[in-house]
Amino acid sequence: MSIWQSEEFDNHEQVCFFSDQETNLRAIVAIHSTARGPAAGGTRFKSYPTDDLALDDALRLSRAMSYKSALAGLPLGGGKAVIIGDPREIKSRELLLAFGRFIDRIGNVFATGEDVGFSVADVEVMHEVTPYVGGTSKGAGDPSIHTATGVLHGLRAVAEFRLGRKNFEGMTFAVQGLGSVGWRVAQHLHDAGAELIVADVDAERTTRAQEIFGATVMDTNDIHAVEADILCPCALGGVINMSTAPQIRAQAIAGAANNQLASPEAGVILADRNILFAPDYVINAGGVISGVEAMQNMPGRSNFDAAPLEVLLEKIYGRLLEIFVRSEKENLTPEATANAIAKELIESKPVKEFA
Ligand code: NAD
Repeated sequence: MSIWQSEEFDNHEQVCFFSDQETNLRAIVAIHSTARGPAAGGTRFKSYPTDDLALDDALRLSRAMSYKSALAGLPLGGGKAVIIGDPREIKSRELLLAFGRFIDRIGNVFATGEDVGFSVADVEVMHEVTPYVGGTSKGAGDPSIHTATGVLHGLRAVAEFRLGRKNFEGMTFAVQGLGSVGWRVAQHLHDAGAELIVADVDAERTTRAQEIFGATVMDTNDIHAVEADILCPCALGGVINMSTAPQIRAQAIAGAANNQLASPEAGVILADRNILFAPDYVINAGGVISGVEAMQNMPGRSNFDAAPLEVLLEKIYGRLLEIFVRSEKENLTPEATANAIAKELIESKPVKEFA
């Protein structure tokens, strides 16, 4: 299939195909937009049933990165790389170096980092041959710390808009998933005086939450339907679907997990039931935001200008309020409103010339 016919093609600026026979490397880099600045996006390393699906993934994920960065107020565009193949079978130091040399060839319009199947250690190998990588251990550190901080700013907006609350004292949060982000979110909420209901497939984590936070533990199959002020999905995607959406009893849903809505229709059910949904790619942008420092230090970026990390993280609060107010006014779901604002930002005047 030709790129131009793909349903995921959205006038992407540049798509590169790389192959290196010696290391079995086959990679696609899609640059959706550099209107707001150099494109940034991680590298996904996985097998795909067909090459067309790999291309679709690169096209779709790179556009999502444009939206995410625009709404985070970053002077960045959107891009994404995929390496086709099972990383357990073909990942090697030589392959990573070959990939790094290809990324270097693209130059200062794209930088990449970790994603599914691609670790910080892999990024560091690439760094030996290209400066165009972010998220090494020398950068802003573990992105989940910043993602959790961003989620907290987002939860402030949700609590204020939906529940008229200025603090979390005495509110009840149902946290689904106590991993790198979820645990930190739970910790912050506990410190702020909130009550916690938690679920995780890892019983050790829920037991610890019970001991440390006095949390109530729920079955992983039931937590979405628990009575709480805010449901905070921090585990899997697709948790809000046509069968779970009618069961939600929380007043709002806001958490770190990617792609929480299985479909736009699930978002419509929430809106019809007056359950406020915080678009996940807006509230979970803290990790991407924390990579901005690395982007600033890349060659050819002398006029790259971004606000300090704390300021950028705090913007999540204001951006979500803007989305909620506008979605109410225009009678759209918050997700649809977020997409519309992202498009407007990308299509409006560029943030700054960078090339
Ligand atoms: P993680 O792997 O550290 O944590 C996930 C947690 O969810 C684990 O404790 C796991 O046991 C638990 N879990 C798995 N299946 C579950 C289920 N069915 N029910 C309840 N718990 C379950 O991942 P993370 O880094 O904390 O990320 C969490 C989510 O946030 C993911 O969807 C991720 O894509 C998204 N996200 C993370 C970041 C980041 O900076 N780490 C940034 C943006 C988005």
